Amino acid sequence: GVSVVTVLRQAMLAVSRSERAERVISTSPLTRDVVKRYVADDIASAVADLTRRGLLVTVDHLGEEVTEREQADAAVAEYLALLGLLPAGADVSVKLTALGLRLSEQLAYERAADICRAAAGRGVTVTLDAEESDTVHGLYAVHTALRREHPDVGVVVQAYLPDSLERCEKLGGARVRLCKGAYTAPGAYTAPAEIDRSFVRCLKVLMAGTAYPMVATHDPRLLRIASTLAVLDGRDVTGFEYQMLYGVRPAEQARLAGLGSQMRVYVPYGDDWYAYLMRRLAERPRNLGFFLRSLMSR
Ligand code: FAD
Repeated sequence: GVSVVTVLRQAMLAVSRSERAERVISTSPLTRDVVKRYVADDIASAVADLTRRGLLVTVDHLGEEVTEREQADAAVAEYLALLGLLPAGADVSVKLTALGLRLSEQLAYERAADICRAAAGRGVTVTLDAEESDTVHGLYAVHTALRREHPDVGVVVQAYLPDSLERCEKLGGARVRLCKGAYTAPGAYTAPAEIDRSFVRCLKVLMAGTAYPMVATHDPRLLRIASTLAVLDGRDVTGFEYQMLYGVRPAEQARLAGLGSQMRVYVPYGDDWYAYLMRRLAERPRNLGFFLRSLMSR
């Protein structure tokens, strides 16, 4: 059966795509505090602070689903400026729909290649985020094309997609971020236990194979399974990394880094935070309280 949580989650994701809801929610004063928890307001000092504490970063300039070429160009300019303030060893996370994937795959490829070239010059890597399911085909096509010139460009696999296992098998040698999946997709697993099982199947393939696994979850059980598999497969601490979101389980981030593991924090910044924030609220029914108060305080 479909649980209450699944229904609430899908309602929240619908809200994340609504322009009307965006106008209401983003102008609410209470929203500000919630935004601050999940979105860096000064990216330079957030990166400096995390780096000082021994955490790695992947930085996301917020924005997605652009409909004009100029917006895609502006996103590239923003990433090029961002690269100037990142230390070597940092990563940037890029959404292809922010680079014009909905307009043309070629456009998104060219813009992403511009970012990869500039990043390589600074010792920074690039990872392509996975988005709505109708963009996934384009995502892997662009990733394959980019890898010819930039073998270290990473890509995300969403375990809620039934073909995620097959996808992991095809990504030998690549940097692969495995996550549960934050959108909705036709045919996707929705039951938490099914998503977890798929996550573990993917993790086994990645850890045993030639990919560089980036384990993106806050789930304590999956984290334990990942660390066990890494040991069984003979990967040392440099052979894989954990990734978590800015503002989510910061004590656990510090703990894993303290144990000597590579822990990378996904840090979003920028004004276009609405859809990102709604996806974070959808992941946590407890967060709905904030959300409802924020609507009522208008
Ligand atoms: P859950 O079962 O959702 O959470 C486990 C526990 O973590 C919860 O019980 C809670 O304690 C804590 N927690 C989780 N989320 C929150 C929250 N929002 N606020 C407070 N506590 C929370 N998805 C994509 O579709 N495409 C991507 O490219 C992508 N990139 C990601 C990059 C990183 C580094 C991470 C960490 C996630 C990314 N995601 C992406 C999101 C991912 O798909 C999940 O939606 C998200 O991570 C929640 O799943 P979970 O594995 O943490 O497990």
